[in-house]
Amino acid sequence: MKVGIMGGTFDPIHIGHMLAAETARDAFGLEQVWFMPSHIPPHKHAAGASGRERLELVREAIKNDESFRILDWEIVRGGVSYTIETVRLLQERYPSDDFYFIIGADMVRYLPKWREIDELARRLFFIGVGRPGVPLDLERLPVHIAERVLLADMPMVDISSTMIRERASGGKSIRYMVPEAVYDYVQRGNLYGVQPRSVD
Ligand code: ATP
Ligand code: MG
Repeated sequence: MKVGIMGGTFDPIHIGHMLAAETARDAFGLEQVWFMPSHIPPHKHAAGASGRERLELVREAIKNDESFRILDWEIVRGGVSYTIETVRLLQERYPSDDFYFIIGADMVRYLPKWREIDELARRLFFIGVGRPGVPLDLERLPVHIAERVLLADMPMVDISSTMIRERASGGKSIRYMVPEAVYDYVQRGNLYGVQPRSVD
């Protein structure tokens, strides 16, 4: 089976993540995409949601899509999440599956800095999608990495989790920037400092 892995902090998950996963699935015939929230050391994320909350947000986002699943290994393991470590475990557990790691243009550019990138690039392909403001060109990457990055054409989505956290805490609407169920969960849980809606 061809499986996409959509890794991220998802603080919160938004439509850019959803569309990246669907675009990659569609473009390369992936049977499933597994959303994998990474764990973040607490000191780095005082302003955001907890690991458990981020997991719940992703669960809400994907609950009606049969092709999308959740992989909670990095949250459960805790500590700093290194993709290479998780991918080793994945390939041990699912030896007959082929994994494709889905990333946005900002992450494509940053690939040479990933831990054990040479080993990681031997183990799987990356699928890169565009992100506004960041050129998606593979020519700047070392050849042995560039040849392991497949590109999928996606309409640009100029939304980030940072933007959403800032809007929410500033009292601005985030509706339709995130899946409806995520929006409801954020409102209910009063995450990111949103003010609960008045019901009059
Ligand atoms: P933050 O602002 O907190 O960094 P983010 O919006 O960048 O959040 P991440 O959880 O950091 O989201 O990203 C997870 C993955 O999704 C990364 O590979 C990132 O490049 C990709 N991604 C995030 N937003 C978009 C977007 N709008 N379009 C395409 N890819 C995206
Ligand atoms: Mg980011």
